[in-house]
Amino acid sequence: MASKALDGMVEEALKAFLAWKGASRLARRRLLQAWLEQVGLVKEDLARLLTEETGKPITLAKGEIARGESTLLVTVEALGAFGEEAVPYDLMAGAEGCRAVLRRFPLGPVLAITPFNFPVNLALHKLGPALGAGCSVLWKPCPQAPRTSRLLWESFEAARIQEQAPLRLLQLAPADPAEAQLLAQDPRIAAVSFTGSERVGHHLERLLAGKRVLLELGGNAAVVVDEGVDAGTVARALAPAAVAGAGQSCSKAQRFYIHRGLWEAFVPAFVAAVKALPVGDPMDPATVVGPLIDEATAVRVDEGLDRAVAAGATVLLRGRRQGALLPPAILTDVPEEDPFVCEEAFSPISVLTPVDSFGEGLDRAAATRFGLRASAYSRDLGNLRLAEQRLRAGGVLLNLPPTFRLDAAPFGGVAASGNGFEGPRWALEAFTEGRLIVEGPA
Ligand code: NAD
Repeated sequence: MASKALDGMVEEALKAFLAWKGASRLARRRLLQAWLEQVGLVKEDLARLLTEETGKPITLAKGEIARGESTLLVTVEALGAFGEEAVPYDLMAGAEGCRAVLRRFPLGPVLAITPFNFPVNLALHKLGPALGAGCSVLWKPCPQAPRTSRLLWESFEAARIQEQAPLRLLQLAPADPAEAQLLAQDPRIAAVSFTGSERVGHHLERLLAGKRVLLELGGNAAVVVDEGVDAGTVARALAPAAVAGAGQSCSKAQRFYIHRGLWEAFVPAFVAAVKALPVGDPMDPATVVGPLIDEATAVRVDEGLDRAVAAGATVLLRGRRQGALLPPAILTDVPEEDPFVCEEAFSPISVLTPVDSFGEGLDRAAATRFGLRASAYSRDLGNLRLAEQRLRAGGVLLNLPPTFRLDAAPFGGVAASGNGFEGPRWALEAFTEGRLIVEGPA
């Protein structure tokens, strides 16, 4: 895309913002409600395209679209209670008779950048709240799902025309990384909301010092399992969290710290539970583990398994790669400095490590620069409270897998995993700024 075309898009976004920023809550809600209806009309096509383009198993793709609808619905609902908060001001001497309200105002044109692993739902987590807040949006989708992204955008256009909303409120900007950076740096872009890798996210943060940059980045989620829990039940709950969608989820279960008292029972139960999940053709509704995003990625991960084995890892489960399809692998005795322990695996790889105590498990789980999600399983309430204290992550799941996400709830990372929460109510806040209005007695 030539820089003149980019310039034109930013100009249109600014114009649309100026026309939209004062729109009533009713108008904003109606637009999102109309979009939700349009998404409903194309949901089957969205799911099919998503599977064709990214290899996400069709049942998971349908699940993602259904979640996307729920994300939009929750955004519509959140708008009803967002934007104005009464602040009792007459607590201060001399302020008798004063009234105050904290009002939130839209920031301006927003650039939303989204990743390939949930190209619809994660886009809706940004686009709905940004538009609902009164911003205009330039959406730079992932390059791996161009037809899916276009169809989602077209469904918005159909809703916009129906609601006669200002022109070009949401523009699709399938820019390459260099162009996306130019867009992000444009002073007319008020905020950049990015979901993707730690590498790109932190690069943008450095590049855009002084601009509001919302980051939702990667993780290497740990699960600590105490003795005394039922090994089979926990293993069956964790298996899909480790391998569904080929493990291409930011909150996928990657590192498992298992109390030695449970180790003998847990390991075979977990291997059996993972083996029971169907691997293969993403168009088959039974498939849980489809291909990785491309063959080069599968080759790189497979080579990583060779490297880990050469460094001393023991293989508990591994299969032969076929093109982009890499069957789940389970390792133990993996050195601490191996990338499958200290980096994000983003693939169907699980690393199991025995620990002498639950506390040691928590310490090792917390020894990471990431902080997106972490899990702990225990029947001891004191241990669960300890987990809550010691696991530093934007989401700590107790007796649940790290992938357990409600789209209405806050979701985000701390430390190297991000700098805030999404979830419609929190995203609305991120796309606005507060203004305290204080009125004295007349
Ligand atoms: P990525 O960082 O490679 O790409 C994300 C987006 O950024 C894409 O649209 C890409 O084209 C764009 N991009 C790449 N370089 C850019 C640049 N220099 N300037 C501007 N934009 C640029 O990530 P990916 O491979 O698409 O997605 C996987 C990553 O996303 C994983 O690390 C995963 O953990 C993370 N993720 C995080 C969350 C979360 O909510 N925290 C959710 C899903 C995925």
